[in-house]
Amino acid sequence: MLTEDIRRVHKKKRLLPIPNSRFIKIRCKNCGNEQITFSHASMRVRCNVCNELLAEPTGGKAKILGEIVEELE
Ligand SMILES: [Zn+2]
Repeated sequence: MLTEDIRRVHKKKRLLPIPNSRFIKIRCKNCGNEQITFSHASMRVRCNVCNELLAEPTGGKAKILGEIVEELE
């Protein structure tokens, strides 16, 4: 008796999640320093120069407290 085990291989295509997030350049309102941060930052982002709070996590898109200079993809 010939037993052939034919397995159907499912090729699961992993779809890349559509990026709903991007990087943004924020200018510190306090000292004018510009720095790039993630728009969905999950941690507080502080200015590298004066330690001013620039972005705060909200669970989704971060609340930007500084001035958004540019949005990067
Ligand atoms: Zn600053």
